[in-house]
Amino acid sequence: MNPYDVNKVREDFPILKRKIYGKNLVYLDNAATTQKPQSVIDTVVKYYSESNSNIHRGVHYLSQEATVVFEEARENIQQYVNAKEKKEIIITKGTTDSINLMANSFGKKNVNEGDEVIISALEHHSNLVPWQQLCKEKKATLKIVPVNDQGEFLFDEYVKLLNSKTKLVTVSHVSNALGSINPIKEIIEKAHEFNIPVMIDGAQGISHCSVDVQQLDCDFYAFSGHKFYAPMGVGILYGKEKYLEEMPPYQMGGEMVDQVSFEKTSFNELPFKFEAGTPNVEAVLGLNAALEYIKNIGMENIARHENKLLNYATQELKKIDGIRFIGEAVNRAGVISFLIGDIHPFDAGTIIDHFGIAVRTGHHCAQPILDHFNIPGTVRASFAMYNTIEEIDLLTTTVKQVKTMFE
Ligand code: PMP
Repeated sequence: MNPYDVNKVREDFPILKRKIYGKNLVYLDNAATTQKPQSVIDTVVKYYSESNSNIHRGVHYLSQEATVVFEEARENIQQYVNAKEKKEIIITKGTTDSINLMANSFGKKNVNEGDEVIISALEHHSNLVPWQQLCKEKKATLKIVPVNDQGEFLFDEYVKLLNSKTKLVTVSHVSNALGSINPIKEIIEKAHEFNIPVMIDGAQGISHCSVDVQQLDCDFYAFSGHKFYAPMGVGILYGKEKYLEEMPPYQMGGEMVDQVSFEKTSFNELPFKFEAGTPNVEAVLGLNAALEYIKNIGMENIARHENKLLNYATQELKKIDGIRFIGEAVNRAGVISFLIGDIHPFDAGTIIDHFGIAVRTGHHCAQPILDHFNIPGTVRASFAMYNTIEEIDLLTTTVKQVKTMFE
């Protein structure tokens, strides 16, 4: 779409017409989940109205039809992230599920006593707890790359942590709490000098940046559909074939098997080895529709628009006396986290909500990074392709009112 027309984009998202407490909804909680365009909603409805049946199993017409569109969706996802092979695209329930798959399969196979796994201080609990628990179980050590006071990944400190005991580096592309964009290309290159594989938690990255897994040369990339204008309950784990082939299955059940007897089981080939049970077919088709929608708008256009919003929000909120930004990384995407004087973020969020503005308050499932700043939480406004400058003006005016109310 050129030039970018935000009002036209908004027309595609029916929920944006909703009133909250009699006011127009201003949805600024996109880092938690994005809204869905009509084409995604229609795809889900159409699947249940016309095609619903289980995939991969039936010889009947509907089952075959559903299997074909499901596998076409996988192929489109492959092309979108530029994976070399279709079988490198594993369908999961979301980022959390993808990372648990990694910890339970790659981790249990490759991480042993005395080994190390590296994460950053910016990680969402989803990319922390599975590794922490694995390390505990295996008597391995979780190493944390620190950040500076702007919330930026400290590359020199990272390099110091890499050694022959490191079995995996796993870091977020974009921090959900602060919006910092990590230098993932350089992180991957450096780890590869030590032959260490790298997983990227792309839960936030995928919706703000173009992702080319071959160009990044990442070994794994995980993301969720629902933060990417697609339905909930679907996610992706991209992995290089050479690693996925060696990894044992994570969950057991139907579809991931080849031959089963009471004595033994042989497993299906990639990607099915990692896809036990009936998948969320309608959500996968919805993800496919979201990809088409995003491709039509253009990720560069979306990123440019969101960047404009982020800069404007920073500039306008900065004018408010007593506002404190948490995380001011030079490279940032989609998120602005702040505190208003001594007002508890929960109180601020509750009042802001009454003006019809949805922001998130709290620790954003990233408690350690907020401990770093010695605060219990922040107010977080996060942007998507459909947000407007006028909405930011409303947010700024409301924040000013919150401040006045507490004075
Ligand atoms: N990582 C990051 C950076 C996230 O922002 C989130 C979601 N807030 C997750 C992981 C977990 O994603 P999901 O809940 O969709 O599995």
